[in-house]
Amino acid sequence: MISYRSGYAGLYVHFPYCIHKCSYCDFYSIGIGKNNTPDQKTLFNNYKKEFELRLSLDPTILDYSFDTIFIGGGTPSLANLDMLSELIAYIKSKLKFTENTEFTMEMNPEDISPEKLSSMHKIDVNRVNAGIQSFNKDLLATLDRYNDEEKYSQVLNHLSSSKIKRFGIDLIYGVPGQSLEMFLSDLNKSLDARVTHISLYSLTVEKGTEYAKQLKKKQAKPPNEELQLEILQTLPDLLAAKGYSQYEVSNYCKDEEESRHNLKYWTMEKYLALGPGAHGFTDKGRYFNHRSIDKYLGGEFGLAYESPVYLDELALCLFRLFIPFDLKSFFVLIPGKKEKLEELIYTWVKSGLCEYTDGIFQWKKHAVMRLDELILAISEV
Ligand code: SF4
Repeated sequence: MISYRSGYAGLYVHFPYCIHKCSYCDFYSIGIGKNNTPDQKTLFNNYKKEFELRLSLDPTILDYSFDTIFIGGGTPSLANLDMLSELIAYIKSKLKFTENTEFTMEMNPEDISPEKLSSMHKIDVNRVNAGIQSFNKDLLATLDRYNDEEKYSQVLNHLSSSKIKRFGIDLIYGVPGQSLEMFLSDLNKSLDARVTHISLYSLTVEKGTEYAKQLKKKQAKPPNEELQLEILQTLPDLLAAKGYSQYEVSNYCKDEEESRHNLKYWTMEKYLALGPGAHGFTDKGRYFNHRSIDKYLGGEFGLAYESPVYLDELALCLFRLFIPFDLKSFFVLIPGKKEKLEELIYTWVKSGLCEYTDGIFQWKKHAVMRLDELILAISEV
């Protein structure tokens, strides 16, 4: 598959609540405890209010054709499904969606049950992404992650027997105390369940998180970078042998099972985003909502629109792809930079880091080990 821009836009809705805020998590999310019921009515009303506001600020959205919906978070599997279905129906009544729209919902293991999956199937969810991270109880404790042991053990059974045939999982590696064997055990369990998509993230220290604070006070151990490098190097071949290709630095999938929605971020397509902490990209520019549920429930939305710095964004997004992509179609976004960028790319071709023919670019597998440094060089051309 060669990645071209699809010409379709995506819709993202951010549901901010989680049972517990994990110490390493940098997403905008709020831990509310197991038995708390947040005010979803106001939240869903305000998604609609924000939607109307975005249309009035940028009516070009009405001309877009959408082919993806992604409900992310936080833990969207805690969202009230009736309210969600009503919101999506409302948005669909105003905008154009293709018939085969990809509709993804993120879920946490404790919410995954045959009943829940069936209800989601009924409201047209056709792709699920489960935030597993690990099946190992001790590692989940190190990650300070809420988990229900019994539910975890059933997750893959439920997912593989659901009517929603496209399902992916997230796993994490480099957690202090994790060995290569522990990681491979998590991975193999997931492969045995015939997941269609796997996102594999290395544990990182994000500024401002509880984990970063604990590290500073020496109350936590840093990520295991040696293991991270070993896994990063091993995975592409290991997963290729099982029929999964690395289409983005942290994402692998079976044939044609890429997340169409996430590809929009990496190929700089337009997306309308709603919710606290969400950011969107429309013809008017990029916008960012406040990372504050109180502001969102009070009807305060991010009103500033910024023009993207295309060269930096291409470096950080497009060049994360490991499938071939049509670089020449992006030159129009970076006037005056084409020659210098191509000069740089030809030096990489010579040193065997990538292929570049007729404007189609592709990293060689081993470039993954130097990706940060190579990406930085692009933003400096
Ligand atoms: S469950 Fe996910 S979104 Fe929620 S705090 Fe943990 S990592 Fe963040």
